[in-house]
Amino acid sequence: MDDMRLALILNAISPAIGGVLVRGEKGTAKSTAVRALTAVLPPVDVVAGCRFSCPPACPDPGCPDGPHQVTAAAERRTARLVELPVGATEDRLTGSLDLGRALTEGVTSFQPGLLAAAHRGVLYVDEVNLLHDHLVDLLLDAAALGTNYVERDGVSVRHEARFLLVGTMNPEEGELRPQLLDRFGLTVEAAAPRDPASRAEVVRRRISFDADQAAFAARFAAAEASLAAAIAAAQERLPSVVLDDAALERIAVVCASFDVDGLRADIVIARTAAAHAAWRGGLAVSREDIRVASRLALPHRRRRNPFDAPGLDEQQLDDALGGQDDEPEPDPPPGGGQEPDDGGQEGAPSAGHDDGQEQAGQAAAGRESVAPSGATFRARPLEVPGKGQGAVGRRSRAATDVGRSVGARPPLPAARTLDVHLTATLTASAPHQRRRGRSGPGLVLERADLREHRREGRESNLVLFVVDASGSMAARRRMEAVKGAVLSLLLDAYQRRDKVGLVCFRGAGAELLLPPTSSVDAAARRLESMPSGGRTPLAAGLAEAHSTLRRERLRDPLRRPLLVVVTDGRHTAGSEPSAAAGNLHRDGIAAVVVDCESGPVRLGLAAGLAQALGAQYLNLDRLSAGGPGASGASGPAGRPGLSAERLADSVRGWRADRVDRKVA
Ligand SMILES: [Zn+2]
Repeated sequence: MDDMRLALILNAISPAIGGVLVRGEKGTAKSTAVRALTAVLPPVDVVAGCRFSCPPACPDPGCPDGPHQVTAAAERRTARLVELPVGATEDRLTGSLDLGRALTEGVTSFQPGLLAAAHRGVLYVDEVNLLHDHLVDLLLDAAALGTNYVERDGVSVRHEARFLLVGTMNPEEGELRPQLLDRFGLTVEAAAPRDPASRAEVVRRRISFDADQAAFAARFAAAEASLAAAIAAAQERLPSVVLDDAALERIAVVCASFDVDGLRADIVIARTAAAHAAWRGGLAVSREDIRVASRLALPHRRRRNPFDAPGLDEQQLDDALGGQDDEPEPDPPPGGGQEPDDGGQEGAPSAGHDDGQEQAGQAAAGRESVAPSGATFRARPLEVPGKGQGAVGRRSRAATDVGRSVGARPPLPAARTLDVHLTATLTASAPHQRRRGRSGPGLVLERADLREHRREGRESNLVLFVVDASGSMAARRRMEAVKGAVLSLLLDAYQRRDKVGLVCFRGAGAELLLPPTSSVDAAARRLESMPSGGRTPLAAGLAEAHSTLRRERLRDPLRRPLLVVVTDGRHTAGSEPSAAAGNLHRDGIAAVVVDCESGPVRLGLAAGLAQALGAQYLNLDRLSAGGPGASGASGPAGRPGLSAERLADSVRGWRADRVDRKVA
């Protein structure tokens, strides 16, 4: 069985393990496997009508829907899979408190959020590494306490929120904060099947699904039922699994050998090993159980450089585990803990779909015309000055619904929960107290007194690249560096949820290689195959960019553009560039000039262009977040090269997952 399914099953047997982080590349059917998990989780008993899933035997004494009577009606339902979208608001995650009603009507009105929905089920975060930091903090707090606590200016609500946290991420899109990483009990690397036999099997299942869906579903349901029964049996067996001192000592030796911080790894390994013993039908935790558990629980906990290869040194693990157990384990009882092998989750139709994507990716990798691009690096943050109102993202400052409070305003007339600014509300009510006949100590509030927070967060932008592809740039090393730099910025744009576009200029004119799109992989591919040579019509490149931005402004007026001009500032064809640059400047387009002039004799023309554009000026080797010397090309500290193909693949995988989700 693959690690991902095993890790999910072990968590289903013992939720105390603390969840699973699935690190995966392109099309690996991550979402399908996670969804399949809920079908085999044991059902839960809840107090009928309680929105917070109180167990009838011991209801949460602080339940906002409570207090529940012991005699309250109960109902049984399947465990829930609740998905936390990466762009969710704080209210959606934690629930929302209507402070307006509390102040003016004196009632506490609480609308439960996703944490309440996930209580006693699974909370699934796809692309968890792209989650906003403030959501991560809320999630960590709730996960650590098993409680969701919502407070707005003194009015508070609290309810239980214990859930199995399952996250997926593509490591090429950025790593997780260590605190969040440690919150996941286990990590697994998901990989698409590569050997011909497994691939053929996926295709065979897909064909049988297409041929007779009813028969396929029946076979699938049978496999699911038998897996659910095996999990239930393992759960029952778990309390009687023996974890003796020798096993505990062995776990401690392993953790010491891999130099992990704290005791959390020891505890997670112990729980996982016990669950594994129960799963295979064993009576005591064996060396093999500990080995399996260590492989799942250690990779994200050992101290290491961020660029070390993932995974665990298996030889080191075997050395740390020492010799075999003294006494052989008794044979597993018949029928216990064996994974049903017929028509498992890999057979789900969406897995077949993903595989198609995967094959497309490999076909692309086989193209021979792909020029090498230079090493990439973490790009210095570039942003549009001022404050926008664009779609939520991670680049420039913007007025948004989430983020920090920067002032108060009267509530907008839309029917939604108020984000009450208490001080401003009380201040607004103060002058009217005598007229309203206030007699006691409390203020008399009316609806018209209510004030809301004005908040500031981050928006996404349109990053339009204008790249010099003329003969002067064609010198191989130089074009490599430029491609590496633009790729780095593309990767950055993807993480910040920007739209991107690509204009190149060479020979007789400029060309819009890629109209503004959210598809970063398309941009990476165009960049890769971008031809170079000929003269340098810089003005034409700027004019093409300008007309592209004007069109885009009509289409998507709130999205502010950022123009990134990659050039050495030279022009050898067409008109003089200062007029075109001046037009962009007058139109208020924010721009950055990335100067790629190199060599001992420099003309410094790009700085002049930056001035005409009113743009920020950066030298190519100052584009990396670490400054000069930190780029992958120039030192061992850099990130290993992330080629256009790998970037495209990673984004394609993300897409495949999206498709996969729609199918599932
Ligand atoms: Zn309740």
